Amino acid sequence: MRFQFPIILLLVILLFACKQNPSNDKKVKVIATTNIIGNCLENMLDSHQFSVQSLMGPGIDPHKYKASHSDIKLLNSADVIVYNGLHLEGKMSQILEKLSKTRQVVAVSEAIDKKEFILVDSQAGLYDPHFWFNLGLWRTALDKTVKQIQKWYPNIDFEKANKYLAEIDSTNMWAKSQLLDIPEDARVLITSHDAFHYFGNSYNIQVKALQGISTVSEFGLKDIVELIDFIVGNQIPSIFIENSINPKSINSVIQGARKKGHEVALGGELFSDALGDAQNPEGTYVGMIKYNVRTIKKGLNHD
Ligand SMILES: [Zn+2]
Repeated sequence: MRFQFPIILLLVILLFACKQNPSNDKKVKVIATTNIIGNCLENMLDSHQFSVQSLMGPGIDPHKYKASHSDIKLLNSADVIVYNGLHLEGKMSQILEKLSKTRQVVAVSEAIDKKEFILVDSQAGLYDPHFWFNLGLWRTALDKTVKQIQKWYPNIDFEKANKYLAEIDSTNMWAKSQLLDIPEDARVLITSHDAFHYFGNSYNIQVKALQGISTVSEFGLKDIVELIDFIVGNQIPSIFIENSINPKSINSVIQGARKKGHEVALGGELFSDALGDAQNPEGTYVGMIKYNVRTIKKGLNHD
């Protein structure tokens, strides 16, 4: 009898605690592969109804990313899994395929007609996956992805989603106006890997990179020499490193150009396949676009 009171008290406390903390268990659990997708969905889905998590953190290269045991556990606990597709998460394709049999899995790229994408290899049916740098295309894909999620969870409030899509539209307009005054002959963007073709097409900037559209592909001395010759021949003022890629190769290009008598500056770090740290402005999709636009504008206007 002596122990009855504390046990009852404990139960009351537990009940009270449960009532005070409505857990995430009641929310629809959405797992995004990249933090670019995760941040966009966070901004579109009501946080009372959905919890959104990203698998890949700041600076993580999605081309090379392999899911760990804890990732697989997390993915198995999701209600909805959203990924980019177009082979961006190349090392995760088998796991995503397997998960699609038991979970609601959607690729953001599925929402877009293939002809809108940049075709890289027609024989292999390979498309450039970095289409978040075409803001018009990306906002359409996000809109359709959320509408797909709405088919599964019909009570989505679209006000938040529409507000965010309008923010992407205004960011696109702002980017266009910012990049307008880069002189014609300086409109060349050189980076580590080919992530910026959609960006280049959107804002009329020629894009060249050391490595192809996937960081998985190798590049050799020949690629470095060719890029150095291009930089020296065209008197390119600046080239850029990327947050998800080792800057070593770009630094060797800078040194190679110097040996040939041309000083090419490091224009700064661009955010390509992953956002920056969450506490920084480039830790959001819109913030990342703005940061890149400012960095490119400053780097290419260098004299
Ligand atoms: Zn990439």
